Amino acid sequence: MDFNSLETPYYHYDLALLRRTLDEVKRCTKNNPEFHVHYAVKANFNPRILQTIAAAGLGADCVSGGEVSAAAAAGIPSEKIVFAGVGKSDSEIITALRTGISCFNVESRPELENISELAAKEGVTARVAFRINPNIDAHTHAKITTGLSENKFGLAPEDLLPAIRRAQELPSIEYAGLHFHIGSQIQDLKVYVTLCHYINNLLNELEAAGIATPSVNVGGGLGIDYVHPKENPIPPFEKYFNIFRHELRLPAGCQLHFELGRSIVGQCGTLIARTLYVKEGRSRKFVIVDAGFTDLIRPAMYGSHHFTENLTAATRPEATLQPYDVVGPICESSDVFSRDELLPPTLRGDLIAFRSAGAYGEAMASCYNCRPLPKSYFSE
Ligand SMILES: *Cc1c(COP(=O)(O)O)cnc(C)c1O
Repeated sequence: MDFNSLETPYYHYDLALLRRTLDEVKRCTKNNPEFHVHYAVKANFNPRILQTIAAAGLGADCVSGGEVSAAAAAGIPSEKIVFAGVGKSDSEIITALRTGISCFNVESRPELENISELAAKEGVTARVAFRINPNIDAHTHAKITTGLSENKFGLAPEDLLPAIRRAQELPSIEYAGLHFHIGSQIQDLKVYVTLCHYINNLLNELEAAGIATPSVNVGGGLGIDYVHPKENPIPPFEKYFNIFRHELRLPAGCQLHFELGRSIVGQCGTLIARTLYVKEGRSRKFVIVDAGFTDLIRPAMYGSHHFTENLTAATRPEATLQPYDVVGPICESSDVFSRDELLPPTLRGDLIAFRSAGAYGEAMASCYNCRPLPKSYFSE
């Protein structure tokens, strides 16, 4: 495929890298049959990506009825699908019940009652795990930390025991265990050690209360290297899984679930844009590209930076790098990919690549300003 002739902006996915990443996940978990890895569909629900992940045998973690359907359509078996989210609507719950998913990760008492009623009407039993908010700081960006008391997610620990007792008496509910998810883009892996110790204490308390825990789900959040994507294309899965292997004390037979999103798909995607104009402002030089935050919202939303390359300049003789503000065409001042980005002298027509855009990139694209959604292309 001649990527140079394709209409920009578009996402390019390196499926070979995705497969290598999935192979590494499988290698790191193969000796633990009680480990179950679910891919967090919200990171990227592109059908080719989902199919590749389904073929590798991973399950799915979904946060909407639409994601449950997308995961099932991609070939992920229903018994490997779990469903989380603070605000599951009735129609989403019914979709999940009819799909026959393995577990609802329940985040409040009223949600438990509602799932119970809907399951009874459908004539099925719903398996539920309770999401607990452990009040652990994930040391990540405020908009993607989820395990603090001030966040909307999960049950307060003191509400857990009554919720489990209620689940055990509801006829259409089967109690499946505990669920956690404390944040995203976690790079300080010690946070997971803290989580493991927290879970161990909770398991002891439950055991003392006579409650058996069939499964624990530790969520996702493993970060990727946005600064050096070429040197570190595959996240530190070995270290990550070893923490749970060594620190968690699970009761015999207890299953351990993981929900990884960004770490699986983040590095395999690149957003490709074309330089429309190079504008010399009074104090700054702007590279204006044809991609904007409608295609990749992370810089505008989280202040994040994607490793940026001028692919066309790489084919010209080497020249001194210059600082540019790389911006999109959207009518908002936040439509900026980076400030003072050091690039080779850049010309109209040059292709610009934003790396590490496989997670929360295409999945968060919008049609703001009546812009079409970006297309996607794949290399094997
Ligand atoms: C978003 C999410 C994940 C995945 O997070 P990543 O940081 O992409 O690994 C896992 N579990 C739940 C419940 C989520 O909402």
